[in-house]
Amino acid sequence: MAIHTNAPILETVGLRKSYGAHEVLKGLDLSLDRGEVVALIGPSGSGKSTFIRCLNMLEMPTGGTLRFRQKEVHPGFRDKGEQIGIGTLRRHVGMVFQHFNLFPHKTVLQNVTEGPITVCKTPRKEAEERAMHLLGQVGLSEKHAAYPNHLSGGQKQRVAIARALAMQPEALLLDEVTSALDPELVGEVLAVIRKLAEDGMTMAIVTHEMAFAADVANRVLFLDQGVIAEEGSPDQVILNPQNPRLQGFVARFH
Ligand code: ADP
Ligand code: MG
Repeated sequence: MAIHTNAPILETVGLRKSYGAHEVLKGLDLSLDRGEVVALIGPSGSGKSTFIRCLNMLEMPTGGTLRFRQKEVHPGFRDKGEQIGIGTLRRHVGMVFQHFNLFPHKTVLQNVTEGPITVCKTPRKEAEERAMHLLGQVGLSEKHAAYPNHLSGGQKQRVAIARALAMQPEALLLDEVTSALDPELVGEVLAVIRKLAEDGMTMAIVTHEMAFAADVANRVLFLDQGVIAEEGSPDQVILNPQNPRLQGFVARFH
């Protein structure tokens, strides 16, 4: 389990999101501390993706506050006085999606170097060296020249993780990153995430892998109908749930 030091990287206070008249997130409070791993679990449609996407403003919250390193994030792209803009937020908070979202016309290496070269203006040689190191960490050094459509789902997802890490993020957001994989490929991706947790990466992880969540998370949040219905240690939330809806939910995934 990761060691964490209590300085929040990301915080939400009363975060709300509506689509038209449909309020999907009904005032969520989260503090994701440095080095902490928080798992978000909950039924389909409970708002997990919406919430995690709000954490780097891929979705714009319609109420409440988002803070990055104790500074409020405003909806413009650039930093403004004491407030952080979306550009800075996204540069420091990486995201990995269920469907990988790799650039299909770029090689594995180019996928991993794209962000550092174009966004951070890292010299190509340096970006490539770092990318090769990261591909080594996810066990894909030998695939650096391959195109995504020649990779398995598990390999694609490991490239997506390396790509996110190439930006040297302060936190990583992972939304059901193993849900699109064949069962035999899930383990290789979870192993990479487990190693990141051990190395102290700050992460918010949406997952249906209960045993994995119980193992790597410092804290588990159960989202239900747009609210955090239960929150606590994996032991409290996953292994000994009290809330009847949570008991039913956990039982289905165990
Ligand atoms: P989860 O990830 O927990 O399955 P989501 O965050 O994807 O849940 O969705 C929560 C609710 O928000 C659902 O009712 C869904 O239909 C609705 N929703 C999500 N995205 C949109 C959108 N772009 N427009 C309208 N409704 C949406
Ligand atoms: Mg979802």
